Amino acid sequence: MSLPLWFDPSLCLVGSDWRPPASGQTLDLINPSDGSKLAQIARGGAQDIDAAIAAAHTARAGAWGRMTAAERGRILMRIGTLVTARADDLALIEALDVGKPLSQARADALALARYMEFYGGAADKVMGETIPYLDGYTVYTLREPHGVTGHIVPWNYPMQIIGRSVGAALAMGNACVLKPAEEACLTALAFAHLALEAGLPAGALNVVPGLGAEAGAALSGHAGIHHISFTGSVATGALVQQAAGRNVVPVTLELGGKSPQLVFDDADLDAALPFLVSAGIQNAGQTCSASSRILVQKGVYDAVQSRMAEAYAALTVGPATEDLRVGPLISTRQKDIVSGFLAKGRDLPIAAQGVLHADAPEAGAYIRPTLFSDVPPDHTLARDEIFGPVQVLIPFTDEAEALRIANSTDYGLVASIWTRDGARQMRLARALHAGQVFVNNYGAGGGVELPFGGVGKSGHGREKGFEALYGFSQLKTVASFHG
Ligand code: NAD
Repeated sequence: MSLPLWFDPSLCLVGSDWRPPASGQTLDLINPSDGSKLAQIARGGAQDIDAAIAAAHTARAGAWGRMTAAERGRILMRIGTLVTARADDLALIEALDVGKPLSQARADALALARYMEFYGGAADKVMGETIPYLDGYTVYTLREPHGVTGHIVPWNYPMQIIGRSVGAALAMGNACVLKPAEEACLTALAFAHLALEAGLPAGALNVVPGLGAEAGAALSGHAGIHHISFTGSVATGALVQQAAGRNVVPVTLELGGKSPQLVFDDADLDAALPFLVSAGIQNAGQTCSASSRILVQKGVYDAVQSRMAEAYAALTVGPATEDLRVGPLISTRQKDIVSGFLAKGRDLPIAAQGVLHADAPEAGAYIRPTLFSDVPPDHTLARDEIFGPVQVLIPFTDEAEALRIANSTDYGLVASIWTRDGARQMRLARALHAGQVFVNNYGAGGGVELPFGGVGKSGHGREKGFEALYGFSQLKTVASFHG
């Protein structure tokens, strides 16, 4: 299947101008399902970032900055309508670019549309408050945009992450500079085209594709930026925070995870099973909120292991356009990283593995989904983020041990508890180190409405839901003395 592109993917968007990067160079995008060259994208750099930030400032000082919240909301909702209308094209683009199975890619496109609807509807509902103070004063607060916001996005969920960060930032009236990932940036460009078509004023959204060390570093260290939203690895997040810190620019970091699901003896296993597996293999495990650790109480351990093993044995991994449950990884580089982890688990029991589709091209970045059992909690496979379709089963005896193991990694993004015991649900929901806790379900980030973000090395700040609107704005207090 060929790319349904209706635009030139080798350009940057600066203001209303689609232009080649100052370097005059391009980067190759690879289709991870077969290793073929998919398209060429701009190799943007510092000069393009300068121009994009200047265009964003101009937009803030002009039509975009003067627009009412209700007008901004209407534009976002129109973008949502256009995204929905192009959902099939966007899904195919993402499937070819990221290797994401078509149905999962389509769900991402619809989530992007939903973010636009949600933040479009919320734009004019963010209010300040009045504060009782001294006699003769009226004190109130104003929620104001930061100004120009930078958005550095990874390759695993480009549409969803653009939706949650750019959507909320635009709703609050910021002008955005978006740096998509060099491995997968076509839907970011498609989104920008649709946004302009929907009437977004020039400069409210600028897009500069390019390498992290070039365009990304230029954006995060730029003095003209007022806030940065970064989603990606811990190592890069720390670099971005350092660079932004030199300009005293606030940063939201959405980083990795090693999210556990805790299955107790009294759990409803029929309800749990589909979540236990899908939370690990969705997007071939390349999900920050993937559930890569399954902690199981000893009374149901054998049952959970054999039922998960059965599900794994039925998994087939193959090209994204075959729309199987598991596609390739993003790149052969990522495949090498995941293979390295599998090699480190060579002494551990493998409960089951999925199979490779007969037509999977040899040059594709395929890894057979793998379920390890009886993994010691301090093993690298139980502690480190693998970012591939690999889950580990860890047995535990009682609630205290389950909690100790669950909280024993550096991460804290998502956790879930499977038990019918209401008191235990409450205790653990409070005690687990995680930004989101699910009880008798697992949301892998949950819906658009649910605030999302991590503790520890999973990052700080919250995106999604109404909470993101606070993150993409700052509070001004006005104390007016009138006697
Ligand atoms: P990455 O950190 O290598 O890249 C992420 C983005 O940062 C890309 O756009 C890249 O170009 C840019 N970048 C790279 N170097 C940079 C630099 N020096 N300065 C500024 N920007 C730079 O991460 P990745 O490999 O693309 O993504 C995988 C990681 O992201 C995983 O660890 C995963 O858990 C995490 N992730 C987290 C979330 C979340 O919401 N918490 C979501 C998706 C991915």
